[in-house]
Parts: sequence; C-alpha cells; structure tokens
Amino acid sequence: MSAERDSAVGEQVSDGGRKTAKAARTAAAAGPASAKKAAPARKTPAKKATAEKATAEKAAEKKATAEKATAKKSAGKKAAADKAAPARKPAAKKASARSAKKAAPAKSSAALKKAPAPRKQVVAPKKATASVPAAPAKTVAAHPQGESRTALVRRARRINRELAEVYPYAHPELDFENPFQLVVATVLSAQTTDLRVNQTTPALFAKYPAPEDLAAADPEEVEEILRPTGFFRAKTKSVIGLSKALVEQFGGEVPGRLEDLVKLPGVGRKTAFVVLGNAFGRPGITVDTHFQRLVRRWKWTDETDPDKIEAAVGALFPKSDWTDLSHHVIWHGRRICHARKPACGACPIAPLCPAYGEGETDPEKAKKLLKYEKAGQPGQRLKPPQAYLDAGGRPAPPLGAG
Ligand code: SF4
Repeated sequence: MSAERDSAVGEQVSDGGRKTAKAARTAAAAGPASAKKAAPARKTPAKKATAEKATAEKAAEKKATAEKATAKKSAGKKAAADKAAPARKPAAKKASARSAKKAAPAKSSAALKKAPAPRKQVVAPKKATASVPAAPAKTVAAHPQGESRTALVRRARRINRELAEVYPYAHPELDFENPFQLVVATVLSAQTTDLRVNQTTPALFAKYPAPEDLAAADPEEVEEILRPTGFFRAKTKSVIGLSKALVEQFGGEVPGRLEDLVKLPGVGRKTAFVVLGNAFGRPGITVDTHFQRLVRRWKWTDETDPDKIEAAVGALFPKSDWTDLSHHVIWHGRRICHARKPACGACPIAPLCPAYGEGETDPEKAKKLLKYEKAGQPGQRLKPPQAYLDAGGRPAPPLGAG
C-alpha cells in the first residue's frame, strides 16, 4: 500500500517539480520587466525617479518614465496606457506570486524526489540466506519498506515462479469428477479439511450422483452421510438447496458464470472461483485462510477483507496466472508456511519473504514441521492426479482407514 502511495507521490512530485521549475524560470524571466512596468503605474514620477535611481536598471526605468510623461500629454495615449497597465499589473503580480510560491516547493519537491532513493538499498535477510541451505545466496529484496509498485510486482511474481517449481503438481485438493461434484465438495469443505470432505463424498455421490438425485433426497439420510464433515445439518440444507436451484434454474447443470454461481445456496465468491477455475478453466483467485495469511506475510497487500485481497493480489498478476497462483499459495500454506509455526528454516522462498523468522529457522527443526508429500505423508485426495503420484505423492486413505 505504501509502495503505491510512494510511487504515486513520486510521480506527482516529479511532475510538480518540473512544472515548478519551469514556472519559476518563466516568472524569473518575466518578473523584472513586469515589475518595471507595474511599478510606475503606482508611483508618482518623482518617487519613481528616486526608486529607479536606486536600482541598477536606471536606463530602463528612465525610458519607462519618459514614456509615462509622454502618455500624460496625449489623452488618447494616456487612455491606452491606462488600459495596458491594469492588464499588465495582474499578470506581473500573478507571475511574481507564482514565482515566490513555487520557488520554495521546488526545493522540497527535489528533496522528496530524492528521498525514495534509499529504498533501493535493499538488503536480503541475513538470517534467510544464512540458514536455508536450499536457498542460494540471492541478494534479493525481501523487505517491503518503501518498495515500489514495480518491485512489488516483480517480487510477487518471482515468489509464484519459485512456488511453481516447488509444487509443479499443485492441484485442487478436493476429489471431483464433474462440476456438480466440485461445487458440492467445495460447499462441504467449510470448517473442515479437504481430506475429511474427500473421505465423505464417495458415499454421497454414489447415492446421489446428479443434482436431481440430491434435490429429491431425504435430508436425514444426507445428514447421516455428511456427519463427519461437521455442521452437517446446515451443510445438508445447503447441498439439497443448491441441487434444487441447479435443477429449477439451470436445467440440472452447474452454471459457468460467477454471477450465477454466487446466487446458489451456500456458494460465495470463494467457492465460485474454485469451481470456475478448476471445472471451467476460467481464471479465479481463491482467497481462503491460507491465501489470506501468506499474502499478508509477503506484504503483497495489507487488506483484510477477502474481496479486497482478491482485487489487490489479482492486480499483481496476469489473469491467466490466477488459478495456478491460488494453488501454489494454498499448497505452501498447508505444507510449509503454517499459521502457528511456519517452517522458515526449510522454506525455499525464505530469501524473498519479509516474514522470514516468524517461524522455526533451525533447518532440522523446521524440517519436522513439513506436511503431506514434503514430509513423506499421504496427501488429501483419495484420487490425486498422476503428476502428483509421479512426484512421489501418496493418495489419502479412505474414511476410517487412517
Ligand atoms: S515459512 Fe517463513 S520464510 Fe517461508 S514464506 Fe512462511 S514466513 Fe516466509
């Protein structure tokens, strides 16, 4: 936020400085001539002569005085002179005032313009480079103090590129085979883990494979199936209501538009973007609890409202990156950058992170904090993508098996 502000100020100050300097130069050039012409109009000839003698520009003043004297002799000329004088006076005053006012700001503008320079003297966190073996000695900016908008965009995109290398197999961690299953699973994932949802939905979709089936279901039977996910009564109400809406309003199909999705019972923007991004291939940012925590740690934004976070982070990346970016950030939050004890000492993006040191920095201790495939443990999906299995990932066990 500050970076944007600073950047904006810098441009204004920079432009203002140029304008000020230009105005000052113009006024300086016009000032003496204007003053010479304006002064005689207020003073008597005698006073004028005295004042003019005291100045270094005697010749010019005498000429002006002579012109005035001549003007008095001719009524026509006098009238012309009177008309000309008022016109010149305001101009002279205006120019003088402008030059006087702007002379000072020109200096302060220059000072302000130079002020951001120290921001570039970014120092990579010594702790990060020193204690993370995986991280090469990158002298990368890792602090956002006074970070320009351009630097922030570069740092954010670099973090995403690094995460793409760390999690090349990142994917939505809910099992689904079609948009209907994804939207139901996403609604069920509130207040519980994707693992628990994945362990629950096989029985649900085996009994109610289509929206028409779930729309006509006996709520008590659905509640029994959904019990392991917690809040099962409210979730039963949501998925049955959601299914009815799909049947009645969308012909039993999940709509592929945000404005339609958010009208469905239990579906907010987060759920809608998960569905759009992963079932329809339409870019979307998923601002879940991990996403919120990490982007604030990385100083990508200071916003706390999910919609504002979505807008702020979305502006740092091309739209085509949004869905994968969401996966990368959420995966990192689940495996390494935990809420309570981030594993900073085992974090591959430590040199880019302003929050390095918020968690465990000892590499050996940090390693023990890793989760899922990074720790050789099963993942959350019972049916993960092949790329995940190829990278050594393991499927999650079914409900009750572990
Ligand atoms: S684990 Fe530590 S170093 Fe890595 S992103 Fe999180 S806070 Fe930053």
